[in-house]
Amino acid sequence: MIYDYVVIGAGSAGCAVAARLAESGEHEVVLLEAGGPDDLDLIHVPAGIPFLFKSAVDWDFATEPQKQLKGRADYAPRGKTYGGTSSINAQVVQRGAHGSYDEWAEAGNKGWAFADLLPIFKHIEHNERGASEWHGVGGPINVADQRDPNPVTLACIEAAIEAGYARNDDFNGVGQLGFGMHQVSQKEGTRCSAARGYLHPSLGRENFTVVPFAQASRLTFDGRRCTGVVYRDPAGEHTVTARREVVLSAGAFGSPQLLLLSGVGGRHQLERHGIDLVAHLPGVGENLYDHVMVPTNHYCTQPITLAAAGTEEQAARFANEKMGLLTSNLAEGGGFVQIGEGNVPDVQFHFGPLFFLHHGASNPEGHGFVAFTILGRPRSVGRVELRSADPAAKPVIDPNFLDDERDLDGLVAGVRIVQDILGSAALNGYRGDPYPAAAMSRDDEEVRDYIRDYAQTLYHPVGTCAMGSGQMAVVDHELRVHGVDGLRVADASVMPYIVNANTNFPSIMIGERCAELMLG
Ligand SMILES: Cc1cc2nc3c(=O)[nH]c(=O)nc-3n(C[C@H](O)[C@H](O)[C@H](O)COP(=O)(O)OP(=O)(O)OC[C@H]3O[C@@H](n4cnc5c(N)ncnc54)[C@H](O)[C@@H]3O)c2cc1C
Repeated sequence: MIYDYVVIGAGSAGCAVAARLAESGEHEVVLLEAGGPDDLDLIHVPAGIPFLFKSAVDWDFATEPQKQLKGRADYAPRGKTYGGTSSINAQVVQRGAHGSYDEWAEAGNKGWAFADLLPIFKHIEHNERGASEWHGVGGPINVADQRDPNPVTLACIEAAIEAGYARNDDFNGVGQLGFGMHQVSQKEGTRCSAARGYLHPSLGRENFTVVPFAQASRLTFDGRRCTGVVYRDPAGEHTVTARREVVLSAGAFGSPQLLLLSGVGGRHQLERHGIDLVAHLPGVGENLYDHVMVPTNHYCTQPITLAAAGTEEQAARFANEKMGLLTSNLAEGGGFVQIGEGNVPDVQFHFGPLFFLHHGASNPEGHGFVAFTILGRPRSVGRVELRSADPAAKPVIDPNFLDDERDLDGLVAGVRIVQDILGSAALNGYRGDPYPAAAMSRDDEEVRDYIRDYAQTLYHPVGTCAMGSGQMAVVDHELRVHGVDGLRVADASVMPYIVNANTNFPSIMIGERCAELMLG
């Protein structure tokens, strides 16, 4: 099989790049996806996320035991279906601070300053609030205000205002500081993933082929030129050839793994696994950044939270009106505060009408609500490595959470902010006891200990095929892999440093930008 372009991975970025290449009408495009079509009903129910964890549409990765988290290994879900992780995520729409991108550009990545990217961000969305200086209409991803926000989330926002923080009704406008409700990637009360926005409308195109259950096992090279991809599907092993280019969009764990399996990576690691070297790129798999977060949970004194989402009444409300608890994206509201230096807010917060401890696995019975404290600008850096030369083996994932002591200090400072907010009178009608009580401790040592027990990923791994020009860079500013021809990477892995907010729109933007660069 021969195509002009082969795209690997139908996730947030892969759907965007493949659909835009196909849309141009000039090229034959094939998209290989390890998972199947996104036909599981729960994908489309916004509040269905907990049921997608460890399901057939989740890669179900885990980190190595984390030294600073008392040796706990953290669960690391990633979507394995059309839409990738955008099919299992919490639908919060954030672009990241303008300054996050300006830093990438200042590091030498021409074309990646926020002013360069704003037109792309506008092009991605159909914002139901209408077009403005900051927002677009007519794009593939529907951006909506929440149809049925939970009263306890609204009370959390009022509590933040009462605690002295500004109100912010648009985190994707002039700035991020302050608190408010999130806009969500939903349409008429159901999830609007990258598959729904980009892939489904393109499926009928004659020049576009999508292959489900096709897991790429390695790239093929003729010398240093990437010529195609070997993949396995239920029928066996196949090879596709790219006349022009291969685009790797397998995500922050999948993309470095596939490069390494194909001989593109650090010489020593490849030798260890008996893989022939194509290009010595020591940065492949390094530079792993993720947002670490700690949850602060309280019982809710009113029976209004997602603990009641499974009732027949709620199922009927969702089925008939697309209203009720099942439209909740869980992380309904939140905000940003700046505690350190610079012009990029460094602590982010989410509020949700549910208990959430250890990804939901340690939740108590009953009604509860949660505030997440998220480190927006972590300093700890980790890596992804091959576990074996077997493409079916899950990679070694070590985010090194809280390795840099300043990260723990930042989380403690953030937890203090949450404690003040949650103590405000606006929550008097909802606030029961904290669970566990240590989450509200005023003793610094106790809070540190609590963080080591309960900190986890906010599910934003990035950076493992970093864009740049130094020795550790993997792609250049046009996303071309250094040292080889005919190969680009487009997904969260190319971020040189993590943006300070949720990473779905930034990943889609990277896919859009890649297509723009390829099509000229
Ligand atoms: C539970 C959860 C909640 C989240 N909530 C939010 C949120 O509210 N807002 C937000 O902005 N972000 C959120 N995120 C993060 C965001 O969704 C991701 O950062 C983003 O989707 C990453 O996009 P990507 O294109 O880099 O990778 P992905 O979307 O993960 O795409 C990678 C694709 O490649 C496929 N693939 C991998 N390896 C292979 C292979 N060898 N062969 C073929 N295919 C392969 C995968 O199956 C997948 O489809 C959340 C993530 C999770 C897990």
